Amino acid sequence: MTTSRQIHLIRRPNGMPVPDDFAVREVATPDASDGQVQVQAVLMSVDPYMRPRLTADQPLDAPMLGGGIGRIVQSRNPKFKEGDLVRHGAGMQERFVSDGRGLQIVDRDPALPLSVYMHALGGTGITAYGGLLEVGALKDGEQVFVSTAGGAVGSVVAQIAKIKGCWVAGSTGADDKAAWLKDEAGLDAVINYKARPLRESLREAMPKGIDVYFENVGGSHLDAVLPRMNVRGRIPVCGMISTYNGGGDPVKNLSVMIYSRVRMEGFVASDFPHLQAQFVSDMTGWLKDGRIKYQETILDGFERAPEGLIGLFEGRNSGKMLIRVAD
Ligand code: NAP
Repeated sequence: MTTSRQIHLIRRPNGMPVPDDFAVREVATPDASDGQVQVQAVLMSVDPYMRPRLTADQPLDAPMLGGGIGRIVQSRNPKFKEGDLVRHGAGMQERFVSDGRGLQIVDRDPALPLSVYMHALGGTGITAYGGLLEVGALKDGEQVFVSTAGGAVGSVVAQIAKIKGCWVAGSTGADDKAAWLKDEAGLDAVINYKARPLRESLREAMPKGIDVYFENVGGSHLDAVLPRMNVRGRIPVCGMISTYNGGGDPVKNLSVMIYSRVRMEGFVASDFPHLQAQFVSDMTGWLKDGRIKYQETILDGFERAPEGLIGLFEGRNSGKMLIRVAD
């Protein structure tokens, strides 16, 4: 028996979550018995999708739902040995016991840091890859606009589009993220949507219109983009973060989809098991040869998970926001 901690939601947020909506609870974690393993959290993910769940699906007074990478610290299951690193969806728990179902050993390339398996080679990476190439049906050389371009999904989308020879512009709300996107990630144009109305900046950033808009924000972003869409343009709808705390600006320009024959299609990360092998091969190569660059904002300390989640809605992350629980 070991003492460990869990992050609980103790109150449903009203609008933007606040630290007092969450609590750190001490629990007793039993030793692994026959067929079981005990896992210690190493890296935990905080993701925008968690916010809508706080309103309904996330049970109160129970570990926050979510995923991460952990280390097997006790094994009485022949499929795992102590020291194995595994992906899990066991939520925000410092340690937990599992029968092994839902645990996946991380097949790690020794040349890459473990943390990339939490973003570019993990859930946000496959979201970017499948969303852009399959749902967005990207063709080489097209005109691409990406929102939340400084974040985990957006930064990968933008760089895949560059690899495919596209003209790529992205939006972000911070000058330092804009500078990284231009100078390091090699985007053709970057818009700080907080500095100037997006509608005006888009005319300069996307002079040939938009063939693919990778939608991460919704509201006024979508409204500004719609009139700039080219005929038979595609909008893969990945997320709408501006609406997750409630409210969000109205979208008035949807009717332009008619004459411009625009297709909008939502999708989720788990839609692409058929692309997984090609994704891992492409992304591993791109990371190793430096064609995909990344940023990470890592908060040290299990108890900082609520701060990390709230920070996503304040733009505090550059690239993927992660919580480091152990080395
Ligand atoms: P992220 O972009 O790394 O982090 C969130 C960023 O969103 C913030 O840093 C902030 O960047 C921006 N933001 C926050 N509030 C905003 C607002 N009101 N208006 C405009 N921008 C805002 O997060 P991520 O994990 O990569 O997720 C990005 C989007 O993809 C989200 O919409 C998420 O729900 C979606 N997603 C969907 C799936 C799926 O399966 N469909 C999977 C993963 C993610 P700035 O500082 O630049 O404003």
